[in-house]
Amino acid sequence: MSQQRKFFVGGNWKMNGSKQSIEGIAGFLKTGPLDPKTEVVVAPPTCYLEYTRKTVDAKVGVAAQNCYKVASGAFTGDISANMIKDLDCEWVILGHSERRNVFGESDQLIGEKTKYALSQGVKVIACIGEKLEEREGGKTEEVVFRQTQAIIENISADQWVSVVIAYEPVWAIGTGKTATPEQAQEVHEKLRTWLADKVSSEVAAAVRIIYGGSVNASNCKELATKGDIDGFLVGGASLKPDFVQIINARQN
Ligand code: PEP
Repeated sequence: MSQQRKFFVGGNWKMNGSKQSIEGIAGFLKTGPLDPKTEVVVAPPTCYLEYTRKTVDAKVGVAAQNCYKVASGAFTGDISANMIKDLDCEWVILGHSERRNVFGESDQLIGEKTKYALSQGVKVIACIGEKLEEREGGKTEEVVFRQTQAIIENISADQWVSVVIAYEPVWAIGTGKTATPEQAQEVHEKLRTWLADKVSSEVAAAVRIIYGGSVNASNCKELATKGDIDGFLVGGASLKPDFVQIINARQN
């Protein structure tokens, strides 16, 4: 377990919620108590970014779930990193599997979006992960390395401090089928070794690689014992009080 890397837990609310439910989530996060050694970030739908920023505790970060690669212009339905910043939100999730697979976003576009968000001072939770047929075809490493390569090509080594990588096998997202701690650790470890070669050993040692895919209050503790699992990106369970237990996964 790395002492250098602060444990990070993100809650991806996806297209769920209302002002009322956000008040409920803010309430259970306030009651906690939350492990002060964990960095916590929640990602509401775009229309609730400002409300969430005002409603949750200041020590909880707020992330957009997506943004485009330029400041402004004729891009109906999209938002920019500048707007996220203007609402005092600190993070954006980019490359979530739903963006890749439902909305057809390419590795290249996600790399460009990452570049622009970082240039505006918005930190990035960069999601990668293989589909079931890719895992079954022995292509897991090839896929996650290719997806990460598109980010490497768009940012400089010193910008990795503002990036968290979320390894989210697509077959585990929202399915109730979690990767075993060993399966997740194996990919995280290989990715870290690969990053040492492709970027630098310093970046590889410092970058947080979090796991996402049906994490819940029952499976989080065991996953959190693995040396290269630096936290979680949580979908469904981040809407429930169970999220507090996930944030506290490293506590006894
Ligand atoms: C996610 O949305 O990133 C996710 C991991 O979802 P779930 O926890 O519901 O599988």
